[in-house]
Amino acid sequence: MKSQSALVAGGSGFVGSHLCESLLNDGYDVFCIDNFGSGSRENISHLTSSGNFEVIEADIREPLDLPPVDEIYHLASRASPKDFQKYPVRIALANTKGTRNLLDYAVEHDAKMLFASTSEVYGDPEVHPQNESYNGNVNIRGPRGCYDESKRFGETLTVAYNNKHDLDVRTVRIFNTYGPRMHMDDGRVVPNFITQALKGEDLTVYGDGSQTRSFCYVSDLIRGIEKTMQADGLAGEVINLGNEDERTIHELAETIIDISGTESGITHEPLPEDDPSRRRPDLSKARQILDYETEVELREGLRKTLEYFEDQI
Ligand code: UDP
Repeated sequence: MKSQSALVAGGSGFVGSHLCESLLNDGYDVFCIDNFGSGSRENISHLTSSGNFEVIEADIREPLDLPPVDEIYHLASRASPKDFQKYPVRIALANTKGTRNLLDYAVEHDAKMLFASTSEVYGDPEVHPQNESYNGNVNIRGPRGCYDESKRFGETLTVAYNNKHDLDVRTVRIFNTYGPRMHMDDGRVVPNFITQALKGEDLTVYGDGSQTRSFCYVSDLIRGIEKTMQADGLAGEVINLGNEDERTIHELAETIIDISGTESGITHEPLPEDDPSRRRPDLSKARQILDYETEVELREGLRKTLEYFEDQI
C-alpha cells in the first residue's frame, strides 16, 4: 500500500516539529516547509536521518512550488505576544496570504488541509469557558490585532474554500500549549518562568497574577490535531483543542517555583495592553467528535519541560 504523505508548514517550530515527529512515527512521508524565522533546524535535527523526511526552505507568503501530498498542516505563524510587536506585518500575512497560498495548493492536489487557528480569536472573552460558537471580543487595532484578526480572516478563508471549492479543510483553535522545544526567549509565560527559575531570578508576573490560562502539554495537542485530520465529517469545521485545567498565572508561578526547587521569588510587572483576563476552552465538541481527553497533568508536563530547559541553559 502507498504510504500517506503530509506537508507541515512551520514544521521546524515548537508545535510543528512535534507534529512532524509524530507523523513520521505513524508511517507518513513528511515534508517540513519552513523559512526558519522562529523555527530552528535544531528542533528537527533528530528527524533528518529518516529517509521519509524532507526539509524545504520556503516562505508560505511567497508563490509556492511544492510536491503533491495527501495532507497539509498549516502551523506557520509566530504565536508569541512578544513577536506581535516585532513582526506584525509578517504575522498578519502568514495567516492570510500564506493561508491562501496553502489553500490553493490543497485545491491543486486535492489534499486535505488543517489550519491552526487560536484561542486568540476569542480575544478578551466575555463568555466563559469559550466554545466554538462564541464569536469573540477582539480589539482589531490593538497590539494583538495582527495575530488575532489574521487568524480570524484565515478561518474565513478556509470556510470560503470549503464552500467554493468543496475543499476538505479543518480548523483547530489551539489554546495555550507548552513543552520542550519552546524557545527560551520566546516571551510566553512558561518558558519565561522556567528560565527565570533555573537562573535563580525572580519570576515576572504581569499584573496581579489573577488572570487565568489553561495549559495544554504539547503531546496532548498533537494527538488532538491528528485526530481532527482523521475524523469523518469535519470538512469545513472548527474544533477547540487544549486543556480545561484553568489556573491563575500566580498559581503557575508558584507551581514552577515548587517543582524546580529554586530560591527565586515573584516580582510584578505591568500587565500588557489587551491581555485576556480569563481563558479556558470548552472541549465538549472535541470530546464528543474526537473522543479527545488530555493525559498530561500540569505538574508532570512542567517537569518534562523543565528537564528540556535544563539542557538548554
Ligand atoms: N505573563 C506573565 N509573565 C511573563 C509572561 C507572561 O505574567 O513573563 C502572563 C501574560 O500577561 C498572560 C499570561 O501570562 O496573562 C499568558 O501569557 P503568554 O504570553 O504565555 O500567552 P497569551 O495567553 O497571553 O497569549
